[in-house]
Amino acid sequence: MSTPTTSLAGLARRDLAGLEDALVGPADPGYDEARAVHNGMIDRRPALIVRCSSPDDVARTMAFARNHDVPLAVRGGGHNGAGLGVVDDGVVIDLAGMAEVFVDPASDTVRVGGGATWAQVDRATAEHGRVTPAGIISTTGVGGLTLGGGIGHLTRRYGLTIDNLIGADVVLADGSQVYASESEHPDLFWALRGGGGNFGVVTSFEFRTHAIPSALQFGPTFWPIEQTPEVMAWYREFLPAAPRQLSGFFATLTVPPVDLFPAELHMRKVCGVVWCIVGSEEEAARLLAPVHDVGTPLLHGVGPAPHPVLQSLFDGLYPKGQQAYWRADFFRELPDELALEYREWGQKLPSMPSTMHLYPIDGAVHDVGPEDTAFAARDVRWAEVIFAVDPDPAQAGAMRDWCVGHWEATHPYSTGGAYVNFMMQEGQERVQATYRGNYDRLARVKAQYDPDNVFRINQNILPASAAP
Ligand SMILES: Cc1cc2nc3c(=O)[nH]c(=O)nc-3n(C[C@H](O)[C@H](O)[C@H](O)COP(=O)(O)OP(=O)(O)OC[C@H]3O[C@@H](n4cnc5c(N)ncnc54)[C@H](O)[C@@H]3O)c2cc1C
Repeated sequence: MSTPTTSLAGLARRDLAGLEDALVGPADPGYDEARAVHNGMIDRRPALIVRCSSPDDVARTMAFARNHDVPLAVRGGGHNGAGLGVVDDGVVIDLAGMAEVFVDPASDTVRVGGGATWAQVDRATAEHGRVTPAGIISTTGVGGLTLGGGIGHLTRRYGLTIDNLIGADVVLADGSQVYASESEHPDLFWALRGGGGNFGVVTSFEFRTHAIPSALQFGPTFWPIEQTPEVMAWYREFLPAAPRQLSGFFATLTVPPVDLFPAELHMRKVCGVVWCIVGSEEEAARLLAPVHDVGTPLLHGVGPAPHPVLQSLFDGLYPKGQQAYWRADFFRELPDELALEYREWGQKLPSMPSTMHLYPIDGAVHDVGPEDTAFAARDVRWAEVIFAVDPDPAQAGAMRDWCVGHWEATHPYSTGGAYVNFMMQEGQERVQATYRGNYDRLARVKAQYDPDNVFRINQNILPASAAP
């Protein structure tokens, strides 16, 4: 029988000797801050939060949660839209204190603690002129982003974040600690690369790094939202044919009222592409010359930016605590009918920071086969995210309605699955549609490493024996 959660923090003070200063229960000052995740729509009240500093802390906390039969959540950066880094009435392992980053110039690798954010990694690797590809916001956690796949500006060039993972230190459900790589626990390593937090707590990641110029070429082209069909008809041909050094995600958005943009564009709804080129200003100008012949561009502003700078440019647009609702899909094609929906829903964007992005999933991502890692979507071309955001809690319903309405209109053109890191909790059917042919193998690896489904606060893969 499970222990009443009201007394769990008290029991932890007895059972987790030496960790007293790391425990936060409902009666402690700082509890509300400690339980808050990035998405302000998530309001969960765990019985206990443990700020772990070592793999042993993680193993002890996990054993404590299991002994008391309460759910366990693992938090990296706390960015997950569905709030998977926190759980009601259970125990949260908070990894933020395990954020050390060590760049090894001799092996072109970087070792990163399981609770680091990408800002910490980007800064450290840039000092050595190196990079590991991540997402587009630097406050995101390395843990969740990596375990789900990792899509960002450098994906076409260097692959998903998981394609740059060499190994991981993992605390398993039974408390044992292992290193997973191509040669050690290869099944676990395969599952970690896309299978989310289903298989253990990663206390340290080891990534490959790549040489990167001191500045990349970065910035958007905007067009009137009415021109979405015309721009998309061009973009869907242009981008896949472009060299891998060039990436650009398509977006519908409202131009933020900041000095970076001309005042006459402030708060105007537009469609656009946010470009990132690994190359010189001259190369960027040459590669992007065609944008001037498409529709009537309102702005084309691409210029040099160091990698850590461009990675943090959007951080201020999406601070912690905003109401956020997510939906997502993968696409192989972007037909005209889909572009018409993007125009319609773009015209109805419900707030300034709300947006729809389409990230290219090609280039180096397609060098890896659908069965080579748990990330099955190697044959799709685009990952869409529909992201409704507003600081005002009174707008939560409006955010959800626009997001779901948009998704229902565009979902029929998709493959049926979505990038796990862009999903809310949408049920087993969606999880299976995402992992497709890899689901059964994931379920078998899950049965081997976590047969009791201790790690279930995630896009959950059921252990093979329990799978329907
Ligand atoms: C503003 C914003 C922008 C984003 N942009 C991008 C983007 O450009 N590209 C992209 O790919 N994604 C992006 N994401 C999505 C992001 O990848 C996911 O939200 C991801 O889950 C965040 O990881 P986290 O560690 O911060 O989250 P958390 O909420 O801490 O964790 C998410 C899940 O991962 C598990 N987990 C986290 N760390 C570990 C660990 N060390 N060991 C085991 N399990 C762990 C948790 O248990 C949970 O199930 C963005 C999210 C936000 C909010």
